[in-house]
Amino acid sequence: MKAHDGMYIDGAWRPAAGTGTIAVVNPADEQVIGHVPAGTAEDVDAAVRAARAALPAWAATAPADRAARIAALRDALAARKDEMAATITAELGAPPQTAQAIHAGLPVVVAGTYADLAAAFAFEEKVGNSTVLMEPVGVVGAITPWNYPLHQIVAKVAPALAAGCTIVLKPAEDTPLTAQLFAEAVDAAGLPAGVFNLVTGLGPVAGQALAEHDGVDMVSFTGSTAVGRRIGAAAGAAVKRVALELGGKSANVILPGADLARAVSVGIANVMSNSGQTCSAWTRMLVHRDLQDEAADLAAAAVAKYVPGDRVGPLVNAKQQERVRGYIEKGIAEGARLVAGGPEAPLDKGYYVSPTVFADVTPDMTIAREEIFGPVVSILPYEDEDDALRIANGTVYGLAGAVWAADDETAVAFARRMETGQVDINGGRFNPLAPFGGYKQSGVGRELGAHGLTEYLQTKSLQF
Ligand code: NAD
Repeated sequence: MKAHDGMYIDGAWRPAAGTGTIAVVNPADEQVIGHVPAGTAEDVDAAVRAARAALPAWAATAPADRAARIAALRDALAARKDEMAATITAELGAPPQTAQAIHAGLPVVVAGTYADLAAAFAFEEKVGNSTVLMEPVGVVGAITPWNYPLHQIVAKVAPALAAGCTIVLKPAEDTPLTAQLFAEAVDAAGLPAGVFNLVTGLGPVAGQALAEHDGVDMVSFTGSTAVGRRIGAAAGAAVKRVALELGGKSANVILPGADLARAVSVGIANVMSNSGQTCSAWTRMLVHRDLQDEAADLAAAAVAKYVPGDRVGPLVNAKQQERVRGYIEKGIAEGARLVAGGPEAPLDKGYYVSPTVFADVTPDMTIAREEIFGPVVSILPYEDEDDALRIANGTVYGLAGAVWAADDETAVAFARRMETGQVDINGGRFNPLAPFGGYKQSGVGRELGAHGLTEYLQTKSLQF
């Protein structure tokens, strides 16, 4: 795989300050496919200085001109779609079809929405005798995870560009090659030097230096709740804007009267997609106790179609594989009923985990409470609707979820009582303009659409 040995700073690939490197491993065969530089605080500082210097001109660029640059970025991403997909397959292990359709395809759509929004958004509005100006927050430090390596970058960079902010990106250490390709697309799109900068490196070194840098006005982080908590605390101490997209433990609530077969098969597909490495995955399936056995049979039949190495890729690294297998062992030890899969690795090579389904899961079990981030679904039986709501809301998380009922009205009435940022109603379709983000400990702020754009804006009111 192609790998740059420098950082993309101020519009060019520049040598890293230090000599350390990070090996990139293909999780499907455990082979090293490349090396990228391990950035230091010095690299981060150079990148922040470049972003700071580029800020006044970019912030003053007319929204229509920013829109044209974002459209060029969208086109550059579309032109590299095959290369992006192949790189994501190589460093994340995503099956080729998923890599094309979701990992490489979705970011083109999201970049397109921000080209449109930058042109159409009202950056000024009249409120009585005031004019309210929406101005860029400034220099953004973006820290992204590996689970959707390109989407997570575009979901931060595109709205930040639309707002008139400049950016320093520190991508996940497991998937830096995708981030380097993204920097190439930025370069091809002709964005002014310094508007976007890339520093690869380790979280506790480069990530932390970026999150704590005085020259950064806002930190936008996606990843684990543990790291998000630290970044939020540091931002609080410095009184700077922060956006956090953290973990989830979303409920797929199947009410009596719903199409059980469809709700179960879509629910299983939702978790198996990306091998369960999706923060919004519906990992808790809530079914009426009388229907639990039927749902468990349907779920076991549905997961059988997700063959590791074919439709289901590996987990991103050995640590995640061990973590997830540990959760499966814990589920068995705490008395959940295993209906499919188990802790044994399904293949000799690669960081694969067997698609696994548990039934008779109770809300106090570890597998019902903690984010597993693997292909594991827990079926939790409920007694009545109020019990279902108590279980659905009985988590520190609140990122997403689903409700299935005999009709949309019944499902919406239940969804209104859910403490979560996004709910799919009877199998609703993905909407790239709908705000995405968490209630409770799933995060602070929203991504995508106009709500995602306003995260990167601050308001100034002029009174007349
Ligand atoms: P992580 O939170 O450690 O990593 C996310 C990003 O933060 C990476 O770029 C990493 O380098 C950086 N980072 C790590 N430590 C940092 C620090 N001290 N300061 C600044 N940046 C730092 O996540 P992980 O270890 O890759 O995954 C662990 C768990 O996190 C997963 O099992 C899953 O539960 C969760 N996760 C959630 C998401 C999500 O989309 N919400 C994505 C990935 C992982």
